[in-house]
Amino acid sequence: MNLDESSPRFSVIFAPELYERLVWFVRLRWLAVAGLCALSLAGPRLFGLERAWPALLVIGLFVAGYNAVFRAVLGRQRVDLGRYGNLRACAIRQMVMDLSALLATLCFTGGVHSPLLPFFAIHMALGTIMIAPRIMYLLATGTAAGLLVLYALQRGGALVALGLPEERGGIGAGELQVGAVILTLFAMVYLTASITTPFKQRNIALHRATRRLRQRTEELGELLEQVRQVERRKSHYMRISAHQLRSPLGTIKTSLEVLAGGWVRPDSERGRRLLAGIAERVDGLLAIVTDLLELARIREGAARAPWTSDVNLNQLLADLFDSLAPAAEQRGVRMRPQFEGVAILERGVAPDLVFAFENLLANAIKYSPPGGEVVVRLAVVDGTVRVEVADRGIGVPGELREDIFLEFVRAPNARRHAPEGTGLGLAITREVVEAHGGRVWVEGRDDGPGSVFIVELPLRGTRRRQPGLVTVE
Ligand code: ADP
Repeated sequence: MNLDESSPRFSVIFAPELYERLVWFVRLRWLAVAGLCALSLAGPRLFGLERAWPALLVIGLFVAGYNAVFRAVLGRQRVDLGRYGNLRACAIRQMVMDLSALLATLCFTGGVHSPLLPFFAIHMALGTIMIAPRIMYLLATGTAAGLLVLYALQRGGALVALGLPEERGGIGAGELQVGAVILTLFAMVYLTASITTPFKQRNIALHRATRRLRQRTEELGELLEQVRQVERRKSHYMRISAHQLRSPLGTIKTSLEVLAGGWVRPDSERGRRLLAGIAERVDGLLAIVTDLLELARIREGAARAPWTSDVNLNQLLADLFDSLAPAAEQRGVRMRPQFEGVAILERGVAPDLVFAFENLLANAIKYSPPGGEVVVRLAVVDGTVRVEVADRGIGVPGELREDIFLEFVRAPNARRHAPEGTGLGLAITREVVEAHGGRVWVEGRDDGPGSVFIVELPLRGTRRRQPGLVTVE
């Protein structure tokens, strides 16, 4: 695992932790200041430090001074914990200052025989927890050099004036003491690093796992919201469907009650009209139920026929022209094909496509005035086939151009023009087109009334998507 401190991830994880430790270190240092001051005051009487106490007091005040500065610096850093580099520099500076103060204290408290020597080891351990081991090895080397210089001075008698006795004779306790301390410095860094590195690695792993968990939780929340939305749409869809079925059923019931109650004789003129009305409404109900079933089937992804290769759209449209010719003729509408190129879909469900285009063509005929014309253009551009069904009929009101593709939406002009109609055909058409990876929309005409329904389908790589969501708004 990467434990490179320059990596931003490392910084993000450890910056708050390092900050807390530095603050704690500052608090601890006040104890050291108190200790130094106490030593300087009680030293002359208790430890025979008659000459050293002013120096110890000065060192104590010096430590207090830089500690106050560090406290102020850390107070500012709190605002910007992301700047790990600043915090690390602060930690190193604190270490350097502490080790220097400790070395200075040594000069007045017995040199290499000072009882304060264990504090070097404590500093090395604490420092390695905060700072990278390689930097701590450098600091240990510097401290070792300082100790060696101090010992050399002490041995040469240069520090007698500070109260340190001159070392005499050959190699003895002084050398052993210095050697042991230097060894301890490096050993402390090594041991502390060996113990803390696995913890740091686990910390990083934990941090990553927490982040992944947070991401998953967010994703789960989004999915839950989607499911709720689908549920809401579903119940809305069911309500609309039930409503569409209920009104004709209500009319049928009333008509039947009139007939059953003997108010109108079935063989009378009014009775025959009532029966014809009932038959018409039942036809309407059947049409709605058939379309609803068709929509549900397509949405559930259960294609009427399996997907087949090489569906020839030109052929499919030509066959539709033939089958719709009688209806067009009956309404006095002329149908004109304009095919540019041949569109063969790599994969498709031919019966579904027939249903989709039949609905567009039938609508164009249904909503055209007698003598109108329906033009079907087919063009292939860049692997996409574009089919336009253009009529000069009643047109789709601008504000409803999106909505007519939703279930049961019928424009008022269409209701007036052709009262019969389920409002489900375009929803099915859109479902089929989207299942084939395409899209469908309607535009108005620039050159007068009418509308142009446009379908674009990719010729290749079409794959049936997952069963669609209910799209009622
Ligand atoms: P239906 O035709 O049974 O009402 P559709 O879903 O096929 O249901 O169409 C929905 C609505 O879209 C229609 O009621 C009508 O308002 C509008 N529409 C569809 N095709 C045309 C067209 N060619 N011209 C004008 N309006 C159309």
